[in-house]
Amino acid sequence: MALTELTVHELASRLAKKEIAAEELARDVVARTEAVEPKLHAFLEWNGEELMAAARDVDARRSRGEALGPLAGIPVGIKDVLNVKGHSCRCGSKILQGYISPYDATVIAKLRAAGAIPFGRLNMDEFAMGSSTENSAFGATRNPWDLERIPGGSSGGSAAAVAAGEVPATLGSDTGGSIRQPASLCGVVGLKPTYGRVSRFGLVAFASSLDQIGPFAKDVTDAALLLSAISGKDPHDSTSLPEPVPDYTKSLTGDVRGLKLGLPKEYFVPGMDKEVESAVRAAVDKLTAMGAEIVEISLPHSDYGLAVYYIIATAEASANLARFDGVRYGFRAKDAKDPIDMYGRTRGAGFGPEVTRRIILGTYVLSSGYYDAYYLRAQKVRTLIRQDFIEAFKKCDAILTPTTPTPAFKAGEKADDPLTMYLSDIFTVNVNLAGICGVSVPCGFTKQPKLPIGLQVLGKPFGEETILRVAHAYEQATEWRKEKPDVKRKT
Ligand code: GLN
Repeated sequence: MALTELTVHELASRLAKKEIAAEELARDVVARTEAVEPKLHAFLEWNGEELMAAARDVDARRSRGEALGPLAGIPVGIKDVLNVKGHSCRCGSKILQGYISPYDATVIAKLRAAGAIPFGRLNMDEFAMGSSTENSAFGATRNPWDLERIPGGSSGGSAAAVAAGEVPATLGSDTGGSIRQPASLCGVVGLKPTYGRVSRFGLVAFASSLDQIGPFAKDVTDAALLLSAISGKDPHDSTSLPEPVPDYTKSLTGDVRGLKLGLPKEYFVPGMDKEVESAVRAAVDKLTAMGAEIVEISLPHSDYGLAVYYIIATAEASANLARFDGVRYGFRAKDAKDPIDMYGRTRGAGFGPEVTRRIILGTYVLSSGYYDAYYLRAQKVRTLIRQDFIEAFKKCDAILTPTTPTPAFKAGEKADDPLTMYLSDIFTVNVNLAGICGVSVPCGFTKQPKLPIGLQVLGKPFGEETILRVAHAYEQATEWRKEKPDVKRKT
């Protein structure tokens, strides 16, 4: 069996006992990546030699008896939105062509401190705007369960790479669902931490009041391990909070007895996919049988989430992306008459259509005369959405919903219809607007074709221990995680 089929915790324990060497694991990661990448395109680039050298260094330090971190020798794939010193960071965009990161993002520094080895640049929708990874300027990523389908987005590369067994775990970012939605569509675990749990220093900003970094993993224990490694207050990010960082694996008791789990009636709506609905309902029944108490709850402002999200996220993006003008970073258009002409040409040629659409929308909702009608009103509704969750959490410890309304759709199916694409995030965006945490855990498959379905478990601010506990207990009581995709072209 290839070592890439093992989880992070299995690998870490074998490495620590010297049953395997980090170099062997690195070799398997490179071999698997080389084998599936021509079909999958989860990575924009990767450097096998660099990984092998870093792995040999871990082995050498282990043989000298040095104290190593809990993730020593584990390769972790990195979404193209996180700065890793000396590597490109293009955010799936032509506009960052040629930019080389001069520093490590805090999450990368923390991974290194835990002994992990950052590996490769994972494909994504340009500037994390999208739900299918088709908006990458460098070609789409495919879903390992069915290569005719999308892996979700925007962190599609991060989800597909774990699902296909290229790398044991990855990092992604989630502004409106970009960790949970692709995790659900690829059949892996994906966790969006509470706003402020993880430092965003070195994450290229999309919408600063919504963005969080989080892990993708094969199981909940791995997600807990990674979350413990990357969390915590960072003086470089004033939005990170000084909450203590627990060892999240300690909360994985396997027991949900006595927990109250809320089912929001607004998340079980007519029109959602029948197989998704029945898989999620079966998961709810399973958790009930395991001793959890199910309570009906209501999140009355849920319907406004997408509209509010697409005002706030685009407004913030229009400001954040103003820095990409050809002066300081990456690509600069040639033959400009003057600086203004250069900005226009650079941005016109550098940004793809979805990013351009969002910048125009965001500029519009912030413009004088429209600011009050759109941006300010959206902020007020955002507060109502957050209050809905705060009220609901007075009645329950965690909330259960489907992660996505449908399983993975076909490549090209929604690419020309942005509004339909935006609907993929209907169950995820409110979580970012409220700043709470959420995890997607596999809860079944559709029949024909066989595609993964995800259960979303939502928690209070800094309620990661509870959602991990629920997701882990459910995972251990079911067999879904044992199913692996066979990456080959259909037909
Ligand atoms: N799909 C959503 C969007 O296009 C969310 C993206 C994200 O979370 N980065 O904005």
